[in-house]
Amino acid sequence: MSGVLLVISGPSGVGKSTVVAEIRERRKFHFSVSVTTRHRRPDETEDIDYHFIATDRFQEMIENGELLEWAEYAGKYYGTPRGPVVKALQAGNDVLLDIENHGAMQVRHSWPEALLIFIAPPSPAELERRLRSRGDTTEPDIAARLSVAAEQVEQARGTYDYVVINRDVDAVTNEILDILVKHEQGTQ
Ligand code: 5GP
Repeated sequence: MSGVLLVISGPSGVGKSTVVAEIRERRKFHFSVSVTTRHRRPDETEDIDYHFIATDRFQEMIENGELLEWAEYAGKYYGTPRGPVVKALQAGNDVLLDIENHGAMQVRHSWPEALLIFIAPPSPAELERRLRSRGDTTEPDIAARLSVAAEQVEQARGTYDYVVINRDVDAVTNEILDILVKHEQGTQ
């Protein structure tokens, strides 16, 4: 029996990585390690957080069909290596992808059985507050992210299987895990 491919997406600043970390605490998943052309941050570990690769290699992976999906985000490339995902699913393990919106849309088409969940902010004002409180984002960047977020939330309602609202990490994690259980029951 094949595992479930769970795709989590949502706008910058919505708290997606915290929720994804909490999901992984509570349930066993094969977590897909993406390739990216951006630089490693000081708190990140090669091959655990990302495989950090050169742009040439990324292009080669696209051409060879080695990526399940890929996207450009903030001027850098990000992609999901296909091989490990397919192998884990075939072995019956559930797979979790934490990817941005364009990549999620590609998975929608290339892997129709995937379960796509979009995490939305409680309100645009709350998202703005969260982006500001990170302290690492410039004003023009905040404005750009807010406008992308508004567009994405609008679009998500028509394209994702579920849109959940992150008012509280614990509650939204429970909601996502409940959706997953229902999805499994429905596909058995
Ligand atoms: P960051 O640079 O902050 O780690 O990630 C930036 C954005 O890229 C996040 O929204 C993250 O979910 C997304 N991302 C990470 N890996 C992938 C990937 O393999 N494919 C796509 N499409 N997005 C990714």
